[in-house]
Amino acid sequence: MMFGRNTLLAASSFLLAALVAFLAAVLAANRDTLHETTGYIPVALLASGILLAAISGLQLIVHLRQARRLKEVREQLRRVKETGNLAVRLPESESDDLAEATRTMNFLLKQFQSLSRALQESEQRYRKALDDISEQTKAQDALQDSEEKYRLLFENNPQPMYVYDPETFRFMAVNQSAIEHYGWSSDEFLSLTIKDIRPEADVPRLVEDISRAPEGIHRAGLWRHHKKDGALIDVEITVHSIPFGGQRAKLVLVNDVTERRGLEESLRQAQKMEAVGRMAGGVAHDFNNLLMVISGYGELLSGSLAESDPRREYANQILRAASRAGNLTRQLLAFSRRQVSKPRVFDLNRTVNAMEPLLRRLVGEEVKLVVDLDRELGHLRADPAQIEQVIMNLAANARDAMPNGGQLTVRTENVKLSADAARRHGLTRGDYIRLIVTDTGTGIDAESRAHLFEPFFTTKAKGKGTGLGLSVVYGIVEQSNGAIGVDSEKGRGTTFILYFPQTDAPLEETVTLSLSDEKGACQGTVLVVEDEVGVRELVSELLRGKGYQVLEASNGREALERAGGHAGTIDLLLTDVIMPEMNGDDLSHKLLSLRPDLKVIYMSGYAPQTLFRRGGLDPDALFLQKPFEPQVLIQKVGTVLKPSNSN
Ligand code: ADP
Ligand code: MG
Repeated sequence: MMFGRNTLLAASSFLLAALVAFLAAVLAANRDTLHETTGYIPVALLASGILLAAISGLQLIVHLRQARRLKEVREQLRRVKETGNLAVRLPESESDDLAEATRTMNFLLKQFQSLSRALQESEQRYRKALDDISEQTKAQDALQDSEEKYRLLFENNPQPMYVYDPETFRFMAVNQSAIEHYGWSSDEFLSLTIKDIRPEADVPRLVEDISRAPEGIHRAGLWRHHKKDGALIDVEITVHSIPFGGQRAKLVLVNDVTERRGLEESLRQAQKMEAVGRMAGGVAHDFNNLLMVISGYGELLSGSLAESDPRREYANQILRAASRAGNLTRQLLAFSRRQVSKPRVFDLNRTVNAMEPLLRRLVGEEVKLVVDLDRELGHLRADPAQIEQVIMNLAANARDAMPNGGQLTVRTENVKLSADAARRHGLTRGDYIRLIVTDTGTGIDAESRAHLFEPFFTTKAKGKGTGLGLSVVYGIVEQSNGAIGVDSEKGRGTTFILYFPQTDAPLEETVTLSLSDEKGACQGTVLVVEDEVGVRELVSELLRGKGYQVLEASNGREALERAGGHAGTIDLLLTDVIMPEMNGDDLSHKLLSLRPDLKVIYMSGYAPQTLFRRGGLDPDALFLQKPFEPQVLIQKVGTVLKPSNSN
C-alpha cells in the first residue's frame, strides 16, 4: 500500500482547505454585491482557508516522507525475515516516532543477534558434549562388558574361587563352585575369614605364609580346608594379587586334591599290604611246614614217654607252644589270603543275629551293643566262617578301645557305588553290602591309622595284643573281593566300614545249619574239655545256644571230676587232644570205661594224621580240625547226638 490512512487524511484536509480558500476567493471577488457588514467574512474565510491548506499541505509532505521511510523499514524487515540475517539494521533518523520505533527495533535486532550467537555457541558446545558423552559411554560399555565377562568367568568357573582381604583375612567374594564345594552360602562366607576354613593348628602357618607372599601370581602349595560339615579336604592353592572394589585383595583358586591324594594313598597302602602280605604269607607257609615237624615229633616224643615221666610234660609244653605258633601262622595265612576259603551265598543279617549273644558276652556289660540290620539286605557271597571272624575281631578291638564302657554298633545296609565312589575303595561300580562297626572308644590317631592293617602292628601291651586281628580282617575282606575303610580320630571313636559285593544268587542250603538255627532245638549233655579258655568258652556258648546242656573242664583231671559229680547222663565228650597232664585220648578211654554209651569227638589244631601216628587214636573217631566254623561244630555234634534225625 502506497499511502497510509494519515496520508489520505492529510491529503483530504488539504483538498478541503483548498476548496474553502477557493470559495472565499470567489466570495471576495463579489464583495461589492454583498452587504457591507458581511463584507469581512469572505476575507476571514479566505485567510483561514489558506492557513488550513498550508497546514494540511505540510502534513501531507510529512506523511509522504514517513510513508517512504516506513516502506524502507518494511523492506529491511522483510529482508531480515527472508534471510534470517540479524545483522541488518533499520535506517534511523533523528527524532520522530518512527525513529524511536526503528531504534527500538534495531536494539532488539542487536539483542536477538547476540542471543542467537550465544545460542549457536551453546549448541555447538552441546553437540560436542554429546559427542564426548557417547565416546565415554562407549568406553564405559566396553569396560562393563569386560567386567561382566570377568565376573562370569569368576562366577561360573568350575573350580572354587574366592577373593579375600589380606589385611583382615575376610572373604570379599566367592564363586558358585566354592559355595557348592564348601557348603556355606555366599552370605555365610562373607561373614567368615579364611582362617575359619582351616584347622586351628594350620592358622599360624597361614598367617606367616600370607605375610611373606609375593605380589602377582604364586602357588601357595598344599593346605587343609574345612567344609561346612566339618569334613577336611586337601587343596592346592594358587593366589593372585588383584585390586578389588578399590582395595588390595587376593584372588584364590582352589584345586581339591583330596580324592587324588586318597587314591594315591590307597594305592600306596595296597602296594605296601601286598608286599607285606607276600612276605608274611611266604614266611607263614614255610613256618607251618616246620611246625608240622615240631608238633609231629613232639607227639611221638610225648607218646613214647611214660605218664609218670616228667619229660612227658616237657614234650607237651613243646606241643602247646607249637599249637600257639600254628595259630599265629594261620592268621598270617589269612592275612595273605592264603587261607582256604569256602565261599557260599548267605545272609549276613542272620550271621550277625546269631552272633549277637556271643558279641554281648565278648564286649561285657559295660558296653552297650546295638545291632541295626537292613531288612532288605542283599545276599553276600563269602566264607561265612571268615566273616564271623571279621566281626569277632572288630568287636574285640572295639571292646579294648572302651575300657570304661561305651557303645558298639553293628549295622548292615545295601549300597550302590558309583564308578567314582567305588574307585575310591579300589572296587568297581555296582551293588554292595556295607557292614559298619562303630565304637565310642579311644579312636585312632593318624600315625596308627597308616599302619592299622599291617601284621604285628599293635599299640597294646606285650602279651595283650598280637597285632594280627585287623590283618586277618583285611585279608578276609580282600579274599572276599570287598574293601575296608576306617574313619577315626583320636578321642572320637572309630568306625570300620566294610564293603562286600552283593549277589543275586539264591541262598545256599548249608547255611541253615549255622549258628542262626533256633535256640533250644537240640537236646543232650556235652562235656567240653579244652585248656584254651577262649576256645572252650566259645564252643560251650555255641552248644548252649543250640539247647544242649554243657559241662566245662579245662583238663583231663577236671573232666573226670565233673563227670563223677554229674548224676545224669553224659551223651558226648568233646575234647581237645593235646592237653597238659592227661591227653584227650587217655581221658576218653577212662571215661568210656565208666560210661560206655558215651560218644566222643576230638578236636585239635593238628592234622589227624599226626595224631594217628601215635597209634592211640581210632581212625574212625569223629574229629574236628581247629579252627572250625561254628556251623561245622553244630553239624557234627548234631549228627552224633541225633544220628537218625539228620537236621
Ligand atoms: P591288636 O588288637 O592285637 O592290637 P589289631 O590288628 O586287632 O591288633 O589292631 C591293631 C591296632 O589298631 C590296635 O593295637 C589298636 O591300636 C588299633 N585299633 C584297632 N581297632 C581299634 C578300635 N576300634 N579303636 C581304637 N583302636 C583300634
Ligand atoms: Mg585286635
